[in-house]
Amino acid sequence: MARAWNFSAGPAALPEEVLRRARDELLEWGDERASVMEVSHRGKAFMEMAQRAEQDLRELLAVPDTYTVLFLQGGASQHFAQIPMNLARPGQGADYVVTGAWSSKAQADARCFVRADLAASGEAGGYRTIPSMSEWKLHGEAAYVHIASNETIHGVQFHQTPDTGNVPLVADMSSDILSRPIDVSRYGLIYAGAQKNIGPSGLVLVIVREDLLERSAGRVPRIFDYAAHAAAASLLNTPPTFAWYLAGLVFQWLKAQGGVAAMAQRNADKAAELYAAIDGSGGFYRNRVEVAARSLMNVPFTLHDAALGAAFLQESRAAGLLALKGHRDLGGMRASLYNAMPLEGVRALVAFMQDFARRHG
Ligand code: PMP
Repeated sequence: MARAWNFSAGPAALPEEVLRRARDELLEWGDERASVMEVSHRGKAFMEMAQRAEQDLRELLAVPDTYTVLFLQGGASQHFAQIPMNLARPGQGADYVVTGAWSSKAQADARCFVRADLAASGEAGGYRTIPSMSEWKLHGEAAYVHIASNETIHGVQFHQTPDTGNVPLVADMSSDILSRPIDVSRYGLIYAGAQKNIGPSGLVLVIVREDLLERSAGRVPRIFDYAAHAAAASLLNTPPTFAWYLAGLVFQWLKAQGGVAAMAQRNADKAAELYAAIDGSGGFYRNRVEVAARSLMNVPFTLHDAALGAAFLQESRAAGLLALKGHRDLGGMRASLYNAMPLEGVRALVAFMQDFARRHG
């Protein structure tokens, strides 16, 4: 049986070329005569691989020299706590913009370490939009302003970078990093769990402005201290070596595809075809997010008759379209269209959806 089109929200589809290469060198990696999983993270081969991965990532996102790149662990969720631990000085507050489930969780966890103020929320409207930036209640003395650039469950995405003045902007980019060019210099800290657009789960990428590393100043246990990880080049303890290696292969693949600008064009084309199919279905399918805030990465949609959901999932799976079940909090369906999903896969989904609607409409 052939590989199916995988619309999973995460862990998500990886580029097939990357998986084939990893398979080919799984038992003997480079000149090591052992697997990448079996060699020391402090050995020359691993350290060279790690440096190249960082260099490729820096090129892909044009990361300025004044930023440190960290390859860490704990999932993005651990960093909900680690960010306030590191960036908020005693007595300082932080501002949270809540646009869906993930930024809401980030705010809730931050409360263990900081006064996490709600600067704006889309909750009252069912998380269907990005609250207008002119109405955000920001504190000039806040340690940082936190956003989730893309809400994986609610399918709401920032299409502009907010201006937070002198207060560092912190962004959870777990589900849209590397999907489009960004101006890193507009952010104080960017973090992303790997399992959508970077590689396998177990790895978290943190890109942080160097001057912010001073804020933790001996107050944070070393394993949670970004400054300690930076000083050790992310080798403070044993890193998730296989995930790091695979992320490096994904970065090489992205460069060969033309980088993030090429991905952005492809991602826009993919999302446009799927939203057009939903909006043009005469109400059979529906996406409720305000058009200007729609995510290009995660497209939640409902069927006009929820009772058709089981048939939709069963038939789509049989047609080679995987993981279309929506998040349990929201119900309905969701198609995730990360970098590794080609336009061809989206067209297969659209053709299935149109056929299903004809048969069940
Ligand atoms: N933030 C966002 C935007 C996510 O989509 C997820 C996971 N789906 C998380 C945070 C949590 O990531 P992890 O499971 O790696 O902790």
